[in-house]
Amino acid sequence: MITRTPIAVHCEEVVSDVAVADTPEGDWQRQLREVIRDPVTLCRRLALNPEWIAGARRGHALFSVRVPEAYLSRIRRGDPGDPLLRQVLPLDAESDVVAGFIDDPLEERNHTPKPGLIHKYSGRALLIASPTCAINCRYCFRRHFPYADNAPSMREWDKTLDYLRNDNSIQEAILSGGDPLASPDRRLAALVRQLEAIPHLKRLRVHTRLPVVIPDRVDDALLEWLGGTRLQKVMVLHINHAQEIDDAVVAACERLKAAGVTLLNQSVLLRGVNDDVEALAALSERLFEAGVLPYYLHVLDPVSGAAHFDVSDAEARQLIEALRQRLAGFLMPRLVREVPGERSKTPL
Ligand SMILES: *Cc1c(COP(=O)(O)O)cnc(C)c1O
Ligand code: SF4
Repeated sequence: MITRTPIAVHCEEVVSDVAVADTPEGDWQRQLREVIRDPVTLCRRLALNPEWIAGARRGHALFSVRVPEAYLSRIRRGDPGDPLLRQVLPLDAESDVVAGFIDDPLEERNHTPKPGLIHKYSGRALLIASPTCAINCRYCFRRHFPYADNAPSMREWDKTLDYLRNDNSIQEAILSGGDPLASPDRRLAALVRQLEAIPHLKRLRVHTRLPVVIPDRVDDALLEWLGGTRLQKVMVLHINHAQEIDDAVVAACERLKAAGVTLLNQSVLLRGVNDDVEALAALSERLFEAGVLPYYLHVLDPVSGAAHFDVSDAEARQLIEALRQRLAGFLMPRLVREVPGERSKTPL
């Protein structure tokens, strides 16, 4: 997700020049290996009517199924309208060709001064710290991205970090992907050690869905490198519905906060998932209970295969106005769109 950029590289390269001892595998890595990758299994495990299987197979051929068990456990069985299920179940509608919905909606390849680095916004640079995700969200703007074409070598990675070293207007490094937390902790720890040695860097931001979809990802090894850095720490979670926040997610958020991490959330406005005032209000309330502040509500990036999730601008504005009548100001997400070429997110 994870921020909003369709460029990816192989995480193995990030810090492979740093000698690190082998660390024991965390349980999250087992959970990551054992994610559900078969559309038929997904339908059966959720007791869906078999009529969903054919479409799930066809959608899966376009963008593969990937659902962690910990996420599956929050989906209601036998309910094809479940808001979490709709984010992960492939549908026939994904093969529809819809005008304006294209493979690379953000055109961000032009903003890659070094492999694995995107510098579009002032003061902030984005590093692609992992090419993979723990979950495949059907609305993802990266669903067509050719990962294999964006694998910088070790020497290139050093040049990537040199770009940060040489530009002292950059105060914030943003780890993105894919999902940066799909990388092993020893790699992330080594990367953060290199970043914190850059004097003008003040902040480390991580955009991730992993603490939501596999809450066990927030383990001692993660808290050690994240809690231990001199950089100020911000984590932007990607949560679209209150039902995604179970007790395990709340506990993960509490551990992150105790390590000094500021927690924010960004959502995507999705037809059939969170396109009503009740759902959006419940999400903001639930986020705050978990110690997370709403940050952005993005309108959908027009990626082919995701048109059935689209909500019109007019409806999006109506929803946000209705939400404003209900919520405290600090529970209001900013409604934005990503416009290729702009120097910030664009408010609607
Ligand atoms: C979204 C984004 C950021 C962060 O933007 P904020 O408005 O600070 O959250 C930075 N760089 C790129 C390339 C982005 O797409
Ligand atoms: S977590 Fe989902 S939305 Fe985010 S990059 Fe991965 S697949 Fe896309």
